[in-house]
Amino acid sequence: MRIGFVGLGNMGAPMAANLAKAGHTVTGYDPAGVTLEGITAAKTLEAAVRDQEAVITMLPNGEIVRAVHADIVRSASPGALLVDCSTVDVDSARAVHEIARNAELLSLDAPVSGGTGGASAGTLTFMVGGSAEAFALGTPLFEIMGQKAVLCGEAGAGQAAKICNNMILGISMIGVCEAFHLADRLGLDRQAMFDVASTSSGSCWSLNTYCPAPGVGPKSPADNDYRPGFAAELMLKDLALSQEAAETAGAETELGRHAREIYQIFVETGGKGKDFSAILEQLSAR
Ligand code: NAD
Repeated sequence: MRIGFVGLGNMGAPMAANLAKAGHTVTGYDPAGVTLEGITAAKTLEAAVRDQEAVITMLPNGEIVRAVHADIVRSASPGALLVDCSTVDVDSARAVHEIARNAELLSLDAPVSGGTGGASAGTLTFMVGGSAEAFALGTPLFEIMGQKAVLCGEAGAGQAAKICNNMILGISMIGVCEAFHLADRLGLDRQAMFDVASTSSGSCWSLNTYCPAPGVGPKSPADNDYRPGFAAELMLKDLALSQEAAETAGAETELGRHAREIYQIFVETGGKGKDFSAILEQLSAR
């Protein structure tokens, strides 16, 4: 396929590279002027979008995604599929589908989980919103960039699934960190706490797979001085998106709100640039 790829940052660059490696003709655009092997660098957005069968975007936030899509539809070929893989608010995702629909183009919101490691290895999970017709067109591309793609529903459903999942993750990580902190203060050995809770009703991904205590459980960012992994500021971004969505939708998410506050304070008091599991380190230092 001829593919335009817009936004060649930490995630977009390896995703675009995997599409090129699989034999697709990829033209990339990023205002930062990124050049990548196997990918034709376009000087303008228009040059990256014109004559493509699919245009994929991987951008920082909803405002940019809306603005870029308003420009993309001006140059996109009839029949082109637009796939936005950025993590953005549900309203922006729906607005972008509307922009595409008005231009008679098929579109998908397709945020990912798996981080930069998953982007490089081609093992991302895609959570997708849009029509079955658009999903069928996008599936061969998801199969190259990832290992799983789930059609979650209509426009915006991919973003909805992503922020619900990450709200669970933020809350559960804080819970696991507080449990280790309490164990410390009670004089309970961290390994003993792990051995019991990871095989009891306290077991969860934040404890069993991504344990925030160094030297305990499987290898995780805690064993690498809390280098991300998944940076605390990205967790804060996702928790802000879930709270924004909860307010709009009238959902009560008390713990989600509190988790957002905790990550806000964490990011402002030394957590920026650290893995989101480093909440434990900060609690221990108190
Ligand atoms: P990044 O900041 O590394 O990359 C974003 C890129 O977009 C930059 O290279 C920037 O120059 C480019 N850009 C900005 N404005 C642009 C414009 N108008 N037109 C074209 N390009 C533009 O960010 P990232 O880590 O690659 O994340 C991208 C998206 O993926 C975000 O929405 C993020 O929340 C999401 N995400 C990131 C991770 C992760 O671990 N990094 C994991 C899952 C999802």
